[in-house]
Amino acid sequence: MKDCWQGAVKISRALWYEEVQVCTFCGEVGDLVCPTCSTNYLHPELGRCRGCGKLILKEKTCCLDCGAGRGPQHLDQVTAWGHYSGALREFIQKIKFEAHPRRIMKIARPFADWAISQLPAVDGVVAVPMHASRLAERGFNQAEVLASAIHWELGLPIIEGVERIKPTPSQILLSRRDRLHNLKDAFLVREPRFFSGRSVWIVDDVTTTGATFEAVAEVLRSSGVQEIYGLCLAAGLEIKLVPLGN
Ligand SMILES: [Zn+2]
Ligand SMILES: [Zn+2]
Repeated sequence: MKDCWQGAVKISRALWYEEVQVCTFCGEVGDLVCPTCSTNYLHPELGRCRGCGKLILKEKTCCLDCGAGRGPQHLDQVTAWGHYSGALREFIQKIKFEAHPRRIMKIARPFADWAISQLPAVDGVVAVPMHASRLAERGFNQAEVLASAIHWELGLPIIEGVERIKPTPSQILLSRRDRLHNLKDAFLVREPRFFSGRSVWIVDDVTTTGATFEAVAEVLRSSGVQEIYGLCLAAGLEIKLVPLGN
């Protein structure tokens, strides 16, 4: 009964008193991301594979795949804010499939803080583009909303001019090799002059094998981009963890 009452208080606070800061993921009053959710989903105590962004043990610099040369080749570094699981995964899926792009603004500050603490400052951000047919279906590109969040929080310009010219089916069940094949010739830089000699962060919501980052990075590299970094909300995890209860 007590738990039920506390839950009701938590929800009514979140609904009626917007000035009360609540955790984006669990509704706990306090921080934008409470310590329990930070431990369970963001794992600041873990390292990120420099090659593909996967969460790894702090003492390592890259995952087994990237260490064996099976990771992206055109990126200087990739980082992910958290692990694609639990409430962070639900948060991302809700944004995409229930069309709640505004929810991204809730986490804009901590996401931007994470990005600038992990990656070098750059000339601008590039959102992973969505094919026109997918955009027409969904109505927005979540990677663009994320890039806007980074722009608002850090003042980094958004650089446009990369297009997705090939509609690609869902990548979820594909291996890294098949994903790369699927993404072959999928992206095009319309205005190479906007990119030549620049340094950029490519922004996306989720990365698993790094194949999408790699495909975008490849066309950026051939357009003369000097430094390319990948930034996303969530990535996979190389080790097994036991979550804390709320
Ligand atoms: Zn929480
Ligand atoms: Zn890796």
